[in-house]
Amino acid sequence: MRMGFPCGSIRSRLSLAYDIFDGLRCGLRARWRHTVMILKKDLSEKTMDKKFRVFATCDIGEAIDVLRKRGYEVEVYPHPEAPPKSLILDKVKSGVDGLITTLRDPIDAEVFEAGKGKLKVVAQIAVGFDNINRADANRYKIPFTHTADVLTEATAEFAFFMMGTLARKMWTAEHLTREHQWGYWHPYLPFLGDEVTGKTVAVIGTGRIGLAFIKKSVGFDMNVLCYDPAYENQAFVQTIQEIHDLRHARGLVKDKAWIKYVPFEEALRGADFVSVHVPLLRAGESATPTYHLFNEKTLSLMKSTAYLVNTSRGPVVDEAALALALRENWIAGAALDVYEQEPLPADSPLRDPAIADRCRLMPHFASAARITRLSIDPDKGMAGRCAQGLIDVLEGNYGGDVTKMPYVVNKEGFGK
Ligand code: NAD
Repeated sequence: MRMGFPCGSIRSRLSLAYDIFDGLRCGLRARWRHTVMILKKDLSEKTMDKKFRVFATCDIGEAIDVLRKRGYEVEVYPHPEAPPKSLILDKVKSGVDGLITTLRDPIDAEVFEAGKGKLKVVAQIAVGFDNINRADANRYKIPFTHTADVLTEATAEFAFFMMGTLARKMWTAEHLTREHQWGYWHPYLPFLGDEVTGKTVAVIGTGRIGLAFIKKSVGFDMNVLCYDPAYENQAFVQTIQEIHDLRHARGLVKDKAWIKYVPFEEALRGADFVSVHVPLLRAGESATPTYHLFNEKTLSLMKSTAYLVNTSRGPVVDEAALALALRENWIAGAALDVYEQEPLPADSPLRDPAIADRCRLMPHFASAARITRLSIDPDKGMAGRCAQGLIDVLEGNYGGDVTKMPYVVNKEGFGK
C-alpha cells in the first residue's frame, strides 16, 4: 500500500544527510543498515511539519484516519446527505487547504473564489466530475483529482448484472415468490424473460468502464457494437475478436461472436441491449455532448425488443422520453443506476407502476462494493485514491508538478 511520499523539513533532511555521510565514513555495514531504516521510517510514517486543514463533505472511512495520522486536521461533515453549498463556502472561506468532495457537491467559481489564496486542491471521491466546473478550476488554478480505474470493474460488473436482472425479470420473479403468487410451473406463464447469451450489445462509450463491460460480455458470447466518437480502440477490438475466434475454433461455442465499431445510430438499431458508459458532457463542454443523448428520437431507433442500461450519469437519458418509451413499448425495458435528479423524486415518471416490470431502478450503486469504495490502498479503493490525490497536491509530491500527478484531472490548467 502506498500513502504519499516524504516531505521532511530541512532540519530532518540535514540530519539524515549527516547519518548517511557518517555511515559511509565509518564504513560500518551495521550503521549503514540503521541509516537505511531511519530513511524508510521517514518515507512511511512522516507526519507533516505543516498542519494541513481539510474539509470532507462526507465520511470516506479509514482514509480519514490515514490523513489524521499524518498530522492533517480533517473535519468531516457528519450527515449522510450532502451538505448545503453555503456550508462548503463557509468552510472554504475559513481557510481549508483541501476539500474532499463527492458527485453531489457543486464546485464552481463561487467555491474557488471563496478559497482564493488558500484552497489548494479538491479531491473528488468518484471518477465522474461533472459537478466540478473544470474551466473555473483552471481559471483559479486549483487542481482537482478523481478516482478513476479503481471502480472500473465494479461498475462494469454491476451494469452487466443489471442487464441480466432486467432481461431475465429477476426482480418481478422474486416478487412473485415472496408475494405467494407462484402457483404453478408453466411453460410460459405468468411471463418469460430474454436470454443475454449470444445476443448483441451496443456499448456506448468505450473508455475504462465500457471496455471492462465488453471483457465481461465475452463469457456470454455476445456480439458487440461499439460507439465512441473520441477514440476507437481498434487494438482492443482485435484482441476480443481473437478470443471469440479461439472460443469458436476450440468448439466452446457454436456461433462465432463478433465485435466492431459502428456509428451511433447503427449501434442503436442493431442492438438487443444498449449499455451506456459515457461521461456527462453538457453543450459547450464537448463537440459530442452526452446530455440527453438518449431522447425521444434516439430511443425510437432502438428495437422494440431491446433493453437500455445506464450506469453513467442520469442526465445522459431524458427521463420523460424514457418513461414514454417504456409506457408505449418502444423498447422492452430499462435498468437505471443514475438519474437526472438524485435521489429519485417521489413523482418521477419512472416510478409509474404500469412500467415497474420493465424498469429497474438502482440507487446510484454501481461502484458500491466494499473494497472498491473504502480500501485505503490507492490501487484498490476510491477512498485511498482520493486521499492520495489530496496528499500529492498538498505535500508537493512529483516535485510539486501538478501535471505529473496521476490523479489530477485538470492538468491542462497547469501547463507551462
Ligand atoms: P472514461 O473517460 O474512461 O470513458 C468515457 C468514454 O466515453 C470515453 O472513451 C469517451 O471518448 C466516451 N465518450 C465521450 N463522449 C461520448 C459520446 N458523445 N458518445 C459516446 N462516447 C462518448 O470514463 P469511465 O471511467 O469509463 O467512466 C465513464 C462514466 O461512468 C463516468 O464519467 C461516470 O460519470 C460514470 N460512472 C458511474 C458510476 C456509478 O456508480 N453509476 C461509477 C463509475 C463511473
